Amino acid sequence: MQIDILTLFPKICEGALAESIMKRAREKRLAEVRVHNIRDWATGKHLVADDTPYGGGQGMVMKCEPIFAAVEALRTPESKVILMTPAGRRFQQCDAARFALDSHLILLCGHYEGIDQRVIDHLVDEELSIGDYVLTNGAIAALVVTDAVVRLIPGVLGDEQSAADDSFSDGLLEYPHYTRPVEFRGWRVPDVLLSGHHGEIAKWRRQKALKKTEKNRPDLLDGK
Ligand code: SAM
Repeated sequence: MQIDILTLFPKICEGALAESIMKRAREKRLAEVRVHNIRDWATGKHLVADDTPYGGGQGMVMKCEPIFAAVEALRTPESKVILMTPAGRRFQQCDAARFALDSHLILLCGHYEGIDQRVIDHLVDEELSIGDYVLTNGAIAALVVTDAVVRLIPGVLGDEQSAADDSFSDGLLEYPHYTRPVEFRGWRVPDVLLSGHHGEIAKWRRQKALKKTEKNRPDLLDGK
């Protein structure tokens, strides 16, 4: 799969893409992630990518021309163009799973007040938010989506880390984990995890996952 991130701040992305699972996925050629500076498609002496809003008001709005030029240079008939915006639909694990089946994502990052509406109306397939808060620009949001998608591409996660038991995969938050030592400051690992009874362990984990979900995300249990 290929992911193209379009941003005014490519440097924000570099570190995250050069570490851990995203690094491994790129090295194994399971995911090709490229970061582009939108300003590379801006024209004129000053390579201007933003302008003042019609109708007045504070801030600057990202202009149509460089964004259309960038997306039109990169997209193919298979591409999905996604705008990162707090005004979008909330990005969820099921979206990550859906995108992991796509062959090409273009993640468009805003800055300033946002992006000219004509980009949204005529270029963008989906508007996604990573949560109900406002970031300064879309680069971090695009990295969040990239990471969540890339780790679901078959072959990216090794045996030591599987996505199958992760939170949300079965609609619940994940059960608690423990590792050595058996006792730390008087707090023991639950006996069932030391018992070797796989059936009992699975039952315990399911109960704990339900409890954790009830406590931290009761909304996930609505309708169950
Ligand atoms: N004026 C915009 C609004 O109120 O909806 C906020 C613009 S924000 C300061 C600048 C850029 O950061 C946005 O265009 C978007 O790309 C990105 N951004 C900020 N918060 C985000 C979020 N929660 N999810 C996804 N992208 C976000």
